[in-house]
Amino acid sequence: MEHLVRNCFKGEGYVFATGAAEIARASGNEKIARLASNENPFPPPAGAINAGVDALHSVNRYPDERVEGLIAALQARHGAFHFVTGVGMDGIIETVIRVLVDPGDKVAVSIPTFSFYGLAARAQGGEVINIQRDEDFAVDPARFVREARGAKVAFICSPNNPTGNAITLECVDEIAAGLDGILFLDNAYVEFADCPYQELLTHHENLIIGRTFSKIYALAGLRVGYAFVPGWFVPYYLRAQTPFALSTVAAAAAEGALADGAYPRTYREHVLRWRARFSREIPLRTYPSDANFVLVNVAPHTGEEAVETLAKHGVVVRSCTSFPGLGDHYIRVSIGEDWENERFLQEIGKL
Ligand code: PMP
Repeated sequence: MEHLVRNCFKGEGYVFATGAAEIARASGNEKIARLASNENPFPPPAGAINAGVDALHSVNRYPDERVEGLIAALQARHGAFHFVTGVGMDGIIETVIRVLVDPGDKVAVSIPTFSFYGLAARAQGGEVINIQRDEDFAVDPARFVREARGAKVAFICSPNNPTGNAITLECVDEIAAGLDGILFLDNAYVEFADCPYQELLTHHENLIIGRTFSKIYALAGLRVGYAFVPGWFVPYYLRAQTPFALSTVAAAAAEGALADGAYPRTYREHVLRWRARFSREIPLRTYPSDANFVLVNVAPHTGEEAVETLAKHGVVVRSCTSFPGLGDHYIRVSIGEDWENERFLQEIGKL
């Protein structure tokens, strides 16, 4: 019956970082340093857990389809912007593409980057145009605008996964002004940088900024994303979204997380401290990072070789070989708990 399946699902899908963890377990490591998925290594804020547990009592009812409590909390936190929510930022990316992309429409993606933009665009029948970043992973705004001409939507990630660098507000401003379609700016890691991109929303009707509770608030397993969107976009987004996409528990926990001002500051300080240590102490070339991970050039080894060697010693990191537009000699290392980071530094020193 497989002939019935659409061609876009016959190639490779999303690459999950599971192989290295299996090697680490098979090699007899009892404690494994999990540094492959850019997760927050700490438990979520207590306020998020309590609100989520409370919300379980009312899951006999469908969720509030307007997610009013969480949206009001986002407005209290960030100001009077228009927001939409989704099942992770992944859910938002998928819904935004569903609103905009007909089969054959162009979708521009700044690469190397997170793979899901391209996968979601192809699943919608879109034609993906990959636009390569410069050698130092910067984005040239004039070239990007030129190459993205005619695209319904263009995706830029900043700080970028897996390279770690953020682009300037001026660069985003110039690109949003020059594009004839929507600019989707992925800010999954923005809380570890100093880039108040949302200031640009007042000048651009075509700018969407995606955010997530997965990293800074440690709610990856609950799947909560949100986006700053122009007001005109909201009703179309709500029509395209799966009904009741965000669960009652997820929405309540996210609202509970927002009420905790100290939690994100503490985690950010931990990340900044270790990011500086990683760039000083990793005895290989690293790249300046504005995120909770660091890209490492492991040449003359390949990324796959480095991941396998580290995994055998109980340290799981991500090979970047599957990121189109990047060579095969990079790994990406997330900042974990102190003992995980120390262990990584020890093992990378022996590579
Ligand atoms: N964008 C980027 C750049 C990411 O790295 C990730 C997750 N790794 C996401 C989006 C998806 O985030 P979420 O967990 O909110 O779906």
